[in-house]
Amino acid sequence: MGKEFHYDVVIVGAGPAGSSAAYQAALNGAKVALIEKEDTIAETVRTSGVTWIKNIKEFGIPDDCFNPIKNYSFCSPNNEVTISDSVAQAAVLDVRKTYRWLAKEAEKHGADIFVKTNVKDVVKNKQGDIGGVIATNPEGVISFFAKIIIDASGFGSVVSKAMGFVTQWKRFGAGAEYEVRAENVDSETWWLMVGQKYSPAGYAWIFPISDKVVRIGVGVGKPESSVDPTERLKKLMDTKEGPISKLGKISPIEFHYGLIPNDGLSRKSVYNNLILVGDTAGQANPLVLEGIRYAIKFGRVAGKVASDAIRSGKTDEASLMPYEETWRKEIESKIKSAGKVQDRWIGLSDEQWDKELDIIKELKPEEFLDFIKADFGLSNMLKLATHHPKLAVRQLFGLVKGIGK
Ligand SMILES: Cc1cc2nc3c(=O)[nH]c(=O)nc-3n(C[C@H](O)[C@H](O)[C@H](O)COP(=O)(O)OP(=O)(O)OC[C@H]3O[C@@H](n4cnc5c(N)ncnc54)[C@H](O)[C@@H]3O)c2cc1C
Repeated sequence: MGKEFHYDVVIVGAGPAGSSAAYQAALNGAKVALIEKEDTIAETVRTSGVTWIKNIKEFGIPDDCFNPIKNYSFCSPNNEVTISDSVAQAAVLDVRKTYRWLAKEAEKHGADIFVKTNVKDVVKNKQGDIGGVIATNPEGVISFFAKIIIDASGFGSVVSKAMGFVTQWKRFGAGAEYEVRAENVDSETWWLMVGQKYSPAGYAWIFPISDKVVRIGVGVGKPESSVDPTERLKKLMDTKEGPISKLGKISPIEFHYGLIPNDGLSRKSVYNNLILVGDTAGQANPLVLEGIRYAIKFGRVAGKVASDAIRSGKTDEASLMPYEETWRKEIESKIKSAGKVQDRWIGLSDEQWDKELDIIKELKPEEFLDFIKADFGLSNMLKLATHHPKLAVRQLFGLVKGIGK
């Protein structure tokens, strides 16, 4: 017989979604366990860490966790554009520092953190609903029982799969990245690189995290392309393709690899005694495969709804529904619009990309940022789709809003 623990809320996975859920549930008075399979929080980095300063401030993430960006450069095989803002609005996170800060906040508010603890299975109650999870750690088997389980295990969705509620994501992005020390870094400028040689269904990037270190990566859409992002990345770095050549001498520090769902908001995110959050729930913007701020934001919503439900004594699906309603209301239409742009972008030839960059050149920084963030507010998009002086820009935003076709 292994060890047994009893909690109000058990959260599986201490990524941004899980740590944020643990923080909010503990803050709201619940007895919380946060379970992570790796030896330390964020031991393996699976993300490039781009996010937005406005959200960083809203979450209270400290200033030493990110590098601000104010110039947004794009290149295609024969075109280039840089949109420069007067103030930095984007940021590249120090991923380990940020994720560890998020977990520490949860711990400070009373959550118990179990690392080196790998969740393998679920425990069902008499009604067939989830009642806990079974994990292994170096000492043996541990059973965690809880009134509510939050599956924040990321792409693998370990709890939801064990319950038989979900199967593997079919459409997803695969990304490979080297964090490198480079000779010439412009720490305020990021690069997105598009076209066949960079990625046949996706894009490559250079994201600076300081004035000496950048992350160079390649993302490839699956199943659209069979290209291996790691091989493509090595090739681009060997041949010093496009803006990579501007970096001068580069020496790799560490390698990152990850998968991100791109199946839209297809999953249900609440069941009796169970909530799915972050990548497990598919909460990511398909256009640029951005999910960190959603993981943190909706992790907090999940923690609040779970702890409120426990207090009310009702943890069935209907009682957890406010969580699903909140996040769907906030992002569902935006994610759908971003999906339409992604469908357009995935089909572009190199020549069409060269032309697409001419359209992007016409955007003001705030228009470009709204676009890339999938912040498609209806009135703003309608304005761009109907009043922008350039026809091509009107058409692009018409597509986003499904008008003007
Ligand atoms: C290549 C790449 C680049 C990306 N770049 C960006 C970007 O620039 N900006 C952005 O916003 N988003 C980016 N994303 C997406 C972003 O990383 C995710 O949306 C975000 O990490 C989701 O957070 P999460 O907490 O849901 O999952 P995760 O961050 O995946 O965390 C899941 C946690 O669960 C743990 N776990 C898994 N299984 C178990 C188990 N059985 N038992 C216990 N613990 C377990 C894992 O170890 C991990 O710590 C990128 C993704 C990829 C793949």
